Amino acid sequence: MNREPISELSKLCVHTITTKPWNINDAAKNYAASGVKGITVWRDALTGRNIRQTGQMLRDHDLSIVSLCRGGFFPNTDPEKRKLALDDNRKAIEEAFELGTQLIVLVCGADPAQSLEDSRKQIQEGIAELIPEASAAGIKLAIEPLHPMYADARSAINTLSQANDMTETLNSPWVGVAVDVYHLWWDPNLEKEIERCGKNNALLAFHICDWKTPTTDFLNDRGLVGEGCIPIRKIRTWVENAGFKGFHEVEIFSSRYWKMDQSEFLKQIITSYKNI
Ligand code: ZN
Repeated sequence: MNREPISELSKLCVHTITTKPWNINDAAKNYAASGVKGITVWRDALTGRNIRQTGQMLRDHDLSIVSLCRGGFFPNTDPEKRKLALDDNRKAIEEAFELGTQLIVLVCGADPAQSLEDSRKQIQEGIAELIPEASAAGIKLAIEPLHPMYADARSAINTLSQANDMTETLNSPWVGVAVDVYHLWWDPNLEKEIERCGKNNALLAFHICDWKTPTTDFLNDRGLVGEGCIPIRKIRTWVENAGFKGFHEVEIFSSRYWKMDQSEFLKQIITSYKNI
């Protein structure tokens, strides 16, 4: 049976990219004033800023810093570029440490010039290489499987089953999975794989938005929760039944909503969230 609607905001987190037109100061001020309790910070929001002070500013607004988005993009046919990607991930670990969050979300990458199997192998090698630094900094790495429409260049990990396989192979307390309903809702094995992930203590993050019909842009036309066909409450029920107690993170890329008055948009995020 599905859980009851949420009705309160203690687990509501918003990604800075959801309200992209706001800088991180405005995002923090407005989230806090609206009762949002968590923030996931996209790295572009930190450009040119003192990261340690930014982390303090967020905590001063009583916001939990849920994660840093994003590391990843490991695969490349060119070994030099793979090294550069690893360096960038090391930088992300430093940034997460400075910011004061314990989680980095990985969009793992893919290179269309090679097979998905080769890309997955390079992802696994890349993550394995980062584990010592992640553990030294006290930061977990969450593999986020992406919808297969992004398998060409954004991620060769497209199902929760593949992400679970990889976390089981890597077998580290520092590596787990981010479940994003936008990417995984269609998967007939989703309930089973969420359960498996929970048993591994590897369910680290839960991202929500909705799938609109028609979707006019496969990156930047995501919907508010309840606006599309994703059974979000059912998936939330599975995630919570698997032992997940973390934040529900509203992550919406939308050219349409970015054009709106962001205060109005935030009100809609909160109203729609209460019904998930
Ligand atoms: Zn996500």
